[in-house]
Amino acid sequence: MNILVLNCGSSSVKFQIIETDLDLIEKNFDKRLASGIIERVGSQSLITLQADGKQKLKQATALRDHRAAIDYILRWIISPNANIANIISLADIHAVGHRVVHGAEKFTKSVLIDDEVIEGIEDCIELAPLHNPANVKGINVARELLGTGIPQVAVFDTAFHSTMPETSYLYALPYQLYRRYKIRRYGFHGTSHRYVAYRYRQLLKIEREQTNIITIHLGNGCSACAIKNGNSVDTSMGMTPLEGLVMGTRSGDIDPSISYFIHHKEGLSFDELGVMFNKQSGLLGVSGLTNDMRELIDEETEHQDRRATLAIDMFCLRVKKYIGAYLAELGGSDAIVFTGGIGENSAIIRERICNGLEFFGLTIDKNRNGEMFGGKEGEISVANSKLKAFVIPTNEELLIARDTVRTVKNVPRRW
Ligand code: ADP
Repeated sequence: MNILVLNCGSSSVKFQIIETDLDLIEKNFDKRLASGIIERVGSQSLITLQADGKQKLKQATALRDHRAAIDYILRWIISPNANIANIISLADIHAVGHRVVHGAEKFTKSVLIDDEVIEGIEDCIELAPLHNPANVKGINVARELLGTGIPQVAVFDTAFHSTMPETSYLYALPYQLYRRYKIRRYGFHGTSHRYVAYRYRQLLKIEREQTNIITIHLGNGCSACAIKNGNSVDTSMGMTPLEGLVMGTRSGDIDPSISYFIHHKEGLSFDELGVMFNKQSGLLGVSGLTNDMRELIDEETEHQDRRATLAIDMFCLRVKKYIGAYLAELGGSDAIVFTGGIGENSAIIRERICNGLEFFGLTIDKNRNGEMFGGKEGEISVANSKLKAFVIPTNEELLIARDTVRTVKNVPRRW
């Protein structure tokens, strides 16, 4: 089956076409046929498109909304210009898999989309006002442009964490707030943590139930996940993706009193505080320079910028604290697995995080660590390290495509 994977953000649409099916999943033979991204939807949009094995195309044109963006993508997909293997008309797209950010308590696994599911996703908008509306738009537009005859599947960022026990997911707030408004921790990046855990068990040739690891996703957004017997038992993001690790522009954990303190001192409204914690904090806020880890490392190396170093050190310390907490919570773990743009590519950040974890039995192999970037996968700890460390590139789109096939064919997922 050719699966169109759609990831609609508030002002962007990312897509991939992946050829996959039950037998291809089994053999790991599924492959990407094309990919692309449209940024700045709603104004002069930047478009990047690529059929696999062919040249990348970059264009700029005004696209008014998500409908115009998805329409643009579909037209390109079937154009002779794109020349995508096996795709001649829209009938060659057999199903669509949507990344949906928040599934709340309602969606604990991927589901076939119908009117009731759309309503359910809309119900979650309150919990993810920045993300779910765009996801719903993507679903409605794809239904409209491709027809309701093409099955569509929703894959939720929160679903993998639905196995967390209430001791992990509840906040120590008045219990009725949970009852009334479902205020609790949900966790995000679930598709990434699940994919990485799956690849880990494939690499080690072990069963899902034998998977006891801590996965660390470090991209623009960052989160850690404690996985016991194959299930997420704790994760660092909370009711929203703001909690936990220090991120590119998000603060991660802070004392909640800070919000009303600043509110009184500077007269910021709660919406403005939300912007500050989500968009002006984290690496950007501390360094005063950038949210981009690569640039911060360059600033540190080339100009010995004090606040660049401070931001990087705070970033690494927060990850280390979560590793320590999860090792205690899990009663030990077999491995720490790094993923995401920073986790996959930056040996120096991985080393700074793992420095001092020898106490837990983790020793990094500097050579192996230094060689792990650009999509490579493997162990970065020394041969006899009691606690191991790995780098495993994430592939959320592949997992969405695979879940789409399994859901359409009604085959229970085994990750
Ligand atoms: P997103 O969360 O948006 O998917 P990515 O997973 O692509 O983002 O991660 C983006 C982050 O990865 C940026 O901070 C970028 O600087 C960082 N990054 C990418 N390559 C490197 C590298 N070689 N060294 C350090 N950081 C890197």
